Amino acid sequence: MRIVMLGAGYVGLVSGACFAEFGVDVTCVDPDKGKIDRLHQGMIPIYEPGLDDLVKKNVEAKRLNFKTGLDQCETGADAVFIAVGTPTRRGDGHADLSYVYQAAKDIAGYLKEDHFTVIVTKSTVPIGTGREVERIIRAENPKADFAVASNPEFLREGAAIGDFMRPDRVVFGTSDERGAQVMRALYRPLYLIETPIVQTTLESSELIKYASNAFLAVKITFINEIADLCEKVGADVQEVARGIGLDGRIGKKFLHAGPGYGGSCFPKDTLALVKTAQDKGAPVRIVETVVDINDKRKQAMAGRVIEAASGSVKGKTVAVLGVSFKPNTDDMRDSVALDVIPALQKAGAKIKAFDPVAMEEAGKLLSDVTWAQGTYEALDGADVAVILTEWNEFRALDFKRVKKLMKSPVLVDLRNIYKPQEVLNQGFAYSSIGR
Ligand code: NAD
Repeated sequence: MRIVMLGAGYVGLVSGACFAEFGVDVTCVDPDKGKIDRLHQGMIPIYEPGLDDLVKKNVEAKRLNFKTGLDQCETGADAVFIAVGTPTRRGDGHADLSYVYQAAKDIAGYLKEDHFTVIVTKSTVPIGTGREVERIIRAENPKADFAVASNPEFLREGAAIGDFMRPDRVVFGTSDERGAQVMRALYRPLYLIETPIVQTTLESSELIKYASNAFLAVKITFINEIADLCEKVGADVQEVARGIGLDGRIGKKFLHAGPGYGGSCFPKDTLALVKTAQDKGAPVRIVETVVDINDKRKQAMAGRVIEAASGSVKGKTVAVLGVSFKPNTDDMRDSVALDVIPALQKAGAKIKAFDPVAMEEAGKLLSDVTWAQGTYEALDGADVAVILTEWNEFRALDFKRVKKLMKSPVLVDLRNIYKPQEVLNQGFAYSSIGR
């Protein structure tokens, strides 16, 4: 089988490499020439564990190649996937679909009347987008033989390859049987490992993605609010989360209290769902509330650091450990660091920060930060330290060394990676979430 993947970002590159690993002939197309040049030189433009080896192996096997335009691709693909960005549109919170619609126009020029192709939206797109993609292509190329399908992606950055290769389920939506056959053939290796395949209508498939992300955002926000209550009543949120999570109806995952969710998906997808639901006259008030709570929570986190620094960070140095929105990625989109660091700077703090992979990305978004080359360099001379991302290398700090390096031993652990007593025993002032 032969497919084209439009977009060589986190989703397009991972999906393209994984389909190639399944034995499919894949061309990833991205107009970002810098990205494609780097890929041609064997460099991976994003940080994702295992992706470099997978790309290299499939490029060498000649199953994976890269182009800057659809016009350079051989015609006759069985499927063209749209995996372009759908960021929040400026001003109103809706998903910005301009990249998707541009991709649809590009596809219209590529399709032929003598070969059936299924056009698949892998990007997270609002309900109705698949139909609009179909309309655009039909209008531009009435003779093209094609159908549209929705195939939302559920991979998690940092674990993306495993998630793609061994997903909890595959969802695709189409009302066209030829399109469904192509989708089933592409995901055949997953049928063999008994992955549930959920075939739905276009609209259901599009909504499943938003409803999944919104549900997870609700779950995180729920435990975050319970954490705040724990602090007031002397309970421990980790004990509470374990106690409720063992109930099979609730489940253990996504019950880690923290500074509020960030990342490339939850903030924009919850907002887009809220807007769609409002427009359709069926508001999802629980998600509206979650969006509001989460925004305020992220903004409030700097206050916890200030409080730990005896009420003021003016003229003090704050060591920030981790800036990516979660470990094992360099993705900075809507990372809590983008709320906390500027707020601390505004309160007069000097920031010294370290992240194992995200400093280059972060450097484009944050100013006046001194970037350290390692954890201990960041802590050297700091008045207070804050853990913003739970990278493994922050989980086993040498506290004796840290105590010697820091001006005062104050640790704010916004990811609850330490047990309070073990840090207190080392002579630190320690604060965390919900404990
Ligand atoms: P990204 O910004 O990393 O990548 C998008 C890429 O598309 C960019 O490289 C851009 O240059 C390219 N592009 C733009 N217009 C194009 C066109 N006309 N033709 C070809 N390429 C084009 O975005 P991402 O994180 O990969 O997300 C892509 C989509 O997948 C979004 O809708 C997102 O919500 C969804 N998604 C993301 C994740 C994730 O973890 N990042 C998970 C599931 C779903």
